[in-house]
Amino acid sequence: MIHPIVGLGHSILRQVAKPVEKDYPGLKELVADMYETMYAADGVGLAAPQINLPIRLVVVGFRPYDEKTETYGEPTEEHTLINPEIVAFGEKKDWFNEGCLSVPDIHEDVLRPTTIRLRWYDEEWNLHDEEIDGLFARVAQHEVDHLEGKVFTDRLSNLKRTMIKRKLNDVVSGRVRTAYRMLKMFVMLATAAVLTACGPSREERVAQIEEMEDSVFESPAALDTNVAEELTTLYMAFADKYPADSLTPAYLMKAAETQAGILHTERAIALYDRVVDNYPDFGDVPMCLFLKGNAYEQNEQFDEARRTYEEFLEKYPDHYMAPSTRQMLPMIGMSAEEMLDYIMAHASDTLIAGV
Ligand code: ZN
Repeated sequence: MIHPIVGLGHSILRQVAKPVEKDYPGLKELVADMYETMYAADGVGLAAPQINLPIRLVVVGFRPYDEKTETYGEPTEEHTLINPEIVAFGEKKDWFNEGCLSVPDIHEDVLRPTTIRLRWYDEEWNLHDEEIDGLFARVAQHEVDHLEGKVFTDRLSNLKRTMIKRKLNDVVSGRVRTAYRMLKMFVMLATAAVLTACGPSREERVAQIEEMEDSVFESPAALDTNVAEELTTLYMAFADKYPADSLTPAYLMKAAETQAGILHTERAIALYDRVVDNYPDFGDVPMCLFLKGNAYEQNEQFDEARRTYEEFLEKYPDHYMAPSTRQMLPMIGMSAEEMLDYIMAHASDTLIAGV
């Protein structure tokens, strides 16, 4: 069975995955599904969190590609990595252009050691402890990162990340097209919102989420402005009905993201404000402030964007988005050419090398 692939922006990609137990139910079938899912998406590696499972399971597979027929041959190499652990890194490092099924359309050079010592269990629970190199070592490191809640774009320089920020935002908000089925933020928002609208009790709504998921995943046509508006209404209905519910600030934030996703930035900004003003204990308040800056920027209200980012930096100087925000701040409102000039004029040699 082919599983939909989780896109950047989904919180599961930021979790540390749990070890796989020996009696994990349906492990063999799951492994087979993962190979099928990976090959269907033309991937060479897939970690379980990418199909929405928070466990330390990875598949790696290489198939020869025939340029003439544009088809793949039978796999020449496959590795099922259960509870993989990088025991040691080799000293030599190399750049390699990486991509990720969870971060479509973005390919960037990443520096990593060329050899590693990897310890893992295979499907038969045989323990391997091997020095590996080449593409296997590269893919294994990328996938083990997934198990630690990291994606390859985290390993880019702040400046590089700033320059691809818009593309990353597109991925997060589901504004990308892929040949494979993705579990996009937007679709997930839809599922959650539909849920809030039906069922008399909160518990029943939660039970309905899972049931609704499949049907929403099956209809990509659901991703239009009308649905976004409908979703927002539902989120807000929930928020109005249960203002003190623990889910409410998250729903309001999702409503804001949904609105930003369809470029209704003023409404998005008002919703981010509502979260920041009313739910100071909500963990994503810093992110809401940051995204509010994004929304202003998207709306070309550059002074407001600057002010919002400054407020964000002042309040949350240690937030993980703070370093790139600091670097980006002077470039707000610049055209692409101005930005490049600015970078050439201000970046140190090291930073330019990173680009
Ligand atoms: Zn990946």
